[in-house]
Amino acid sequence: MHIKSAVFVKGVVGEDEILDDGIPQVPFIGRSNVGKSSVINSLTGQKNLARSSPTPGRTREINFFLINNSFYLVDLPGYGFAKASLDERDAITKLIYWYLLFSDIDHKKVVLIIDAHVGVTSYDAEMLRRLEDKDKKLIIVANKIDKIKKSDYVKQMRAIQGVIGDYPVIPYSAEKKIGVSQLATELLK
Ligand code: GDP
Repeated sequence: MHIKSAVFVKGVVGEDEILDDGIPQVPFIGRSNVGKSSVINSLTGQKNLARSSPTPGRTREINFFLINNSFYLVDLPGYGFAKASLDERDAITKLIYWYLLFSDIDHKKVVLIIDAHVGVTSYDAEMLRRLEDKDKKLIIVANKIDKIKKSDYVKQMRAIQGVIGDYPVIPYSAEKKIGVSQLATELLK
């Protein structure tokens, strides 16, 4: 299975104008710098569909991309942004939690991207627990596997799966385009 079309539909700031038109939504979330933009671009086969936004001011945007005319890939701001002020970080965290956990939007799946090289951080674990509490259908993308030493790979992936539990973990490299079809298949299921 693969993604045939990906079209930017809308960027919103804040919760007021969130898109909720009945088309299923699949949010992509992850710690900033985890490679979320790179994952979205590699998955959709477009170089610049999602742009990373290094300036904290722009990170509150939620971007909607229509995939195969059937669901929205929702690019949420990255969490745990080191450079953002505390207030900014709080605002981003609140927005993400509101959208994921407390809005009425029906999420077909939720894609949590982690850094395979770094492993599951405390931020990731907190997010995972909250999503689990809400019975979300989770897919975990372990990005940047190209950065893991070959001799550490099996141990590292086992450790990640151990923390994640029963959800599917897709080994991924946006850089080397590994895991793209596996992720597309999970999304289109
Ligand atoms: P975002 O902030 O989560 O959207 O992250 P970006 O997509 O902007 O990526 C952050 C950094 O990680 C950039 O320097 C990317 O080149 C790098 N990166 C992203 N994916 C990969 C990957 O699969 N492998 C490696 N080695 N680097 C990656």
